[in-house]
Amino acid sequence: MDKNDVWSAVLEVIKLSIEPQAFATWFQPTKQVEYTNGTIKVVVPNLFFSDWIRHHYMGEILSALKGITGRELQVEFVVQNTRQEGKTPRVEPTPHAITGTQFHLRSRYTFNTFIIGEGNRLACAAAKNVASNLGRAYNPLFIYGGVGLGKTHLIQAIGNAALKIYPGLKLYYTPAEALFLELIQAIGKNTRIEFKNKYRCLDLLLLDDIHYLVGKESLQEEIFYTFNALQDAGSQVVFTSDRPPKDIPTLQERLISRLGSGLVVDIQPPDLETRIAILLQKAKQEQFKLPEDIAAYIATRVRSNIRTLEASLLRLIALHSLTGRPLTTQLADEALKDLVSPSQPLDANRVITMVADHFQISVQDLKGRLRTKRVALARQTAMYLLRQQLNLSLKDIGYLLGGKDHTTVMHAINKIQQLKIKDPKLATTLQNLLQQFNPQ
Ligand code: ADP
Ligand code: MG
Repeated sequence: MDKNDVWSAVLEVIKLSIEPQAFATWFQPTKQVEYTNGTIKVVVPNLFFSDWIRHHYMGEILSALKGITGRELQVEFVVQNTRQEGKTPRVEPTPHAITGTQFHLRSRYTFNTFIIGEGNRLACAAAKNVASNLGRAYNPLFIYGGVGLGKTHLIQAIGNAALKIYPGLKLYYTPAEALFLELIQAIGKNTRIEFKNKYRCLDLLLLDDIHYLVGKESLQEEIFYTFNALQDAGSQVVFTSDRPPKDIPTLQERLISRLGSGLVVDIQPPDLETRIAILLQKAKQEQFKLPEDIAAYIATRVRSNIRTLEASLLRLIALHSLTGRPLTTQLADEALKDLVSPSQPLDANRVITMVADHFQISVQDLKGRLRTKRVALARQTAMYLLRQQLNLSLKDIGYLLGGKDHTTVMHAINKIQQLKIKDPKLATTLQNLLQQFNPQ
C-alpha cells in the first residue's frame, strides 16, 4: 500500500462504521500529511476537530489502522494552516445539520452581558464550563429558577459561546413548547423519522422551559429517547425549567432520574447590588446616562424579576426623552406604575431619609463611618427598620447604608431588638417612625 494513502484506507473503514452525517462532518475535511516512524500525521481544520475526533473516534481509528497496516501506529492531528491557499477544508453541512439562522440564538444573550451575583454565580460557572467542554463537563446540565431570572439568557449564552469555540458545531436551541408543536406536526405529516433524525445528530441540544412537558406524555417519551441517543453519542444537552426535575409533576420517573443525572443548578433572585449593576449595564447598552441613585431607587422597588427591572428602565428612558422631565425618583415612580404593586409604597430611600430626619442627622452621616452615639443609634435603627418593614436581606441593607458588612447589620438588628424591650425611649422612637411610614 502507498504510504501516503494509509489515512484514505482508514477513512474507508470508518465510513462503514459510523453515521454518514458524522463521517461527513468529522472525517471528510481531514487529510494525511505525513507518515514517518510509526506516526501518521493528519491535518484537521481546527483544534476542536482534533479534540472531538480524539474523544469520540480514537478507538475506531486505531483499530482500523491496525487492521490496515498490521502495526500499532500513533496518530497525531495537526491544525490546518488556513493561510495556505485553497487548502482549507470546509465543513460541509450534512443533510440534517442545522446551520445559520436556524440556531434561533439571540446575539445579545452572551456571558459578557450576563451580570454575575450570588444568586446566579454557580449556574453561570457551570454554563461556562459546559460551553467550553461540551459533553465532558456536566451532562445534562439542568438550570432552574423563577420567571425572568436569566434562564433563557444563560442557556443561549452557552450556545453562543460554544459556537465560537467549536465552529461547525451542530446545535439547536428550542423552547419545549415549540418542540411540542413540531412533534405534533411531524405526527400529522407522518414525518416522525425526520423529526427524530434532526434531533439525534446534534452535538448540543438546548431545551428551554422543560416544565412545559407536564402532562405531555408523548413529548416526554420522545425527549427521553432523544436524550439517551445524544448522551450515548457524547453530545451535550442543557435544560432549563422553572423548578427542579423532581418537582415537575407527571414527569416519568426514568426521565427524572436521567435529567438529574448530570448537574442541577438553580438561579436565585438577584441581590440589590446585582440588580443595580444590571440596570447600569442595560442603560449603557441603551446609551442612556442613568444616575446611580435612580438605579438604586428602581432596584430597591423591583426585587425579583429582571425582565420587569429592564422594562422599568425602558419606560423611564421613554418618559424622560418624551417629556424632557428631569430624572428624579418621582419620574421613576411614574415609570414603575403598574409594573410593581402599589401595596409597597414604602421604599428603602424613604426609610433612610425619615430615620435621618428623626435623629436630626444627614443621610450622608447615616451612611457614613461616623460612630458618635446618636449616629450609631440612628444607623442601627435604620438597619432594623429596613429589615422589619421591607424584609431586605442583610447584604442589601449593608449596601444601602454605605457598604457595611452583613455581620454589622445582623449585630445592629439584634441590638435594636433587645434595646426596644429595655429602653422605652427607643420603643417610642420606633413607634413614631412606623406611624410616619404608614399614616392611617
Ligand atoms: P427567564 O428565561 O429565566 O424567564 P430571561 O433569560 O428571559 O429569564 O431574562 C429576562 C431578561 O433579564 C433578559 O432580557 C435577560 O437578558 C435579563 N437578565 C437576566 N439575568 C441577567 C443577568 N444576570 N445579567 C444581565 N441581564 C440579565
Ligand atoms: Mg425563559
